[in-house]
Amino acid sequence: MKKFYFSVICVALLASCGAPQSEESAVTSPVDTILLQDFHPQVVNNIPETFVERAKFPIIDMHSHDYASSDEEIAEWVKVMDAVGVEHTAVMHCSWIGRPFEEVVAAYAPYKERFRLWCCFDYSDMSEAGIQHACETLARYHEMGAVGVGELGDKGEGDLYARPVEGKDIHIDDPRIRPLLAKCAELKMPVSIHIAEPYWMYLPMDASNDGLPNAGVWHVDSTGCLGYWGLVQSFENAVRENPNTIFIACHYLNMNHDLPQLGAMLDKYPNMYIDIAARVAESAHTPRATREFLIKYQDRVLFGTDNGMEASMYQNIFRVLETNDEHFYVPEYNYHWALSGFNLPDKVLKKIYHDNAARILKEYK
Ligand SMILES: [Zn+2]
Repeated sequence: MKKFYFSVICVALLASCGAPQSEESAVTSPVDTILLQDFHPQVVNNIPETFVERAKFPIIDMHSHDYASSDEEIAEWVKVMDAVGVEHTAVMHCSWIGRPFEEVVAAYAPYKERFRLWCCFDYSDMSEAGIQHACETLARYHEMGAVGVGELGDKGEGDLYARPVEGKDIHIDDPRIRPLLAKCAELKMPVSIHIAEPYWMYLPMDASNDGLPNAGVWHVDSTGCLGYWGLVQSFENAVRENPNTIFIACHYLNMNHDLPQLGAMLDKYPNMYIDIAARVAESAHTPRATREFLIKYQDRVLFGTDNGMEASMYQNIFRVLETNDEHFYVPEYNYHWALSGFNLPDKVLKKIYHDNAARILKEYK
């Protein structure tokens, strides 16, 4: 990250017990020297701090990956899931990490009730016959246990999360993959897709960028490919053109900055859902707007994590969804802002944690 100085109002520190401020102290002021990346404030307020050890209702985690690298790690993961209240987890084979689908099936086979597998589209041959073959592969994966397709991922250059080959320049509204999306409807496999990145990752990387600590790392250069709104449009086209296919936009469709627009899309397309995976920090700095949104769209929101297997990872999310805590930091989220809880009503929590996912994955309790 390039050097960026973060202004902190610390008049008390500079005031030096009322002594006149020397030129030297002004030069060495932390206001001028602390880098944004080194700014780790500690909350001093005497306000509630709630540790939520276990989720209030059973959870279906609709967004995770093949994080476990051995049988022991899978067993350990199940223990953590038991402790925090996760009934089952979607392991999305399709992502930037992964091994062949058959290996994933074998690895998680001892815990069939605890992990549901999601598979990829095979773009090896984009001819009509090739796509037909990909539909057959999809049906075979479904028979092997795949309950959905995902996580597809398009940050401008196409579905680069796909395996065994990347879907370079293949966007979700590409007419060539319509037979695959139709096959998903036939097999009742929802399609989970990561579209774009948070909006500020497309904005100038300067002192006005609100999300700079993360935007500086995840900055997207969309020169020569689809930009933020082009990607959103490609997603909307696919949702509109394939009304019998269920689409899950990961990470609030990366539209936390414009919840009214996201809500308008959900109003328009009953086959569209969102997951809240890995966007805790991007939502919990606007707790009132997000709370209102989650209550309004309580039937269309799915719980997801996308962030490893640690108990604390889950518990940080529970704190935001369940409590009324305010002004707290979770350093690993890497933003300079503090978070506040949504204090969601039980009825809404239960739907987001479990019932909406169970409805989509009908064959499971
Ligand atoms: Zn993911």
